[in-house]
Amino acid sequence: MRNTASGSLKQGADLRAPGYANIFVLGDAGDLQPPQAVNADTQTRHLMTQLHSYFGGEPIKPYVFDPEKTQMALTIGRDRGTGQIGSWQPWSLLIWFLKGRHLGTNNAGEYAKGDAGTMGKAWPK
Ligand SMILES: Cc1cc2nc3c(=O)[nH]c(=O)nc-3n(C[C@H](O)[C@H](O)[C@H](O)COP(=O)(O)OP(=O)(O)OC[C@H]3O[C@@H](n4cnc5c(N)ncnc54)[C@H](O)[C@@H]3O)c2cc1C
Repeated sequence: MRNTASGSLKQGADLRAPGYANIFVLGDAGDLQPPQAVNADTQTRHLMTQLHSYFGGEPIKPYVFDPEKTQMALTIGRDRGTGQIGSWQPWSLLIWFLKGRHLGTNNAGEYAKGDAGTMGKAWPK
């Protein structure tokens, strides 16, 4: 059940633990993508949209992602940052604006209530 190289749990294409019909693996625990909140978020969003089919006994859609796509934002001090989105290095000011200003605390209320995920984006209904 573990990926022997990374130590993470194996994830099938539909985010199930291979060999288990009713166990799903999401986020850092899994071996599909690097351990980043952005990946945990998209995996969770995908499964949320498939739960209706799952509980109805229907097939669920595979989780599709681009393994080459890098998306990372790092703050530096109070007002600078760096990162990578695909092949683009975002401007320091943009990283500060999107992340460094609040470090997610501006969305903490919605997050704690279960109304939103990463970057305050509402969960799919
Ligand atoms: C300093 C730092 C900076 C980061 N910056 C970024 C960033 O800029 N961008 C980004 O995308 N990602 C970033 N990450 C990574 C991001 O935090 C993780 O990818 C994300 O939190 C993974 O979410 P998760 O729900 O899969 O796991 P986690 O957030 O680790 O949640 C797992 C939870 O399970 C709990 N748990 C563990 N074992 C048990 C048990 N036996 N019983 C019950 N509960 C248990 C843990 O306490 C934890 O609360 C950063 C991580 C760190 C440490």
